[in-house]
Amino acid sequence: MNDRNLYPSLILNHYRNPRNRRNLSAEEIHAEGSNPNCGDRVALHLQTEGEKIVEIFFSGCGCAICMASTSIMTDNARGKTPSDLRRLSDEFIAFMQGEIDLNAETLGDLFALAAVRKFPMRIKCAILPWQILLKALD
Ligand code: ZN
Repeated sequence: MNDRNLYPSLILNHYRNPRNRRNLSAEEIHAEGSNPNCGDRVALHLQTEGEKIVEIFFSGCGCAICMASTSIMTDNARGKTPSDLRRLSDEFIAFMQGEIDLNAETLGDLFALAAVRKFPMRIKCAILPWQILLKALD
């Protein structure tokens, strides 16, 4: 495994300085999940106003891939509608699982996770927060 390919600088940046991470009390958690194979754990708090997500925070710990994916996800979520986010989640999960191809223009910062597709054991790390987001939106 070539670590430089798996961890582009954007991934390391989000891992070292996660956006929108803080401690969440049990009452604040809307959905959570874990990836026991790797030890990743993520919990999400969402706040909507009208049709838009106005706040999103996560708590949790895990590997660089999972934490970066969660951090980038929260950065992308504010100001979007739940249906926008459901579509983005479905697309990103399908992309990571190799079912569809998307380009950097469509995925933005998320495209930095594209190299993870070559490491099947780590795909779960990247999609875990998105699966939790879908649960939180239900
Ligand atoms: Zn992981």
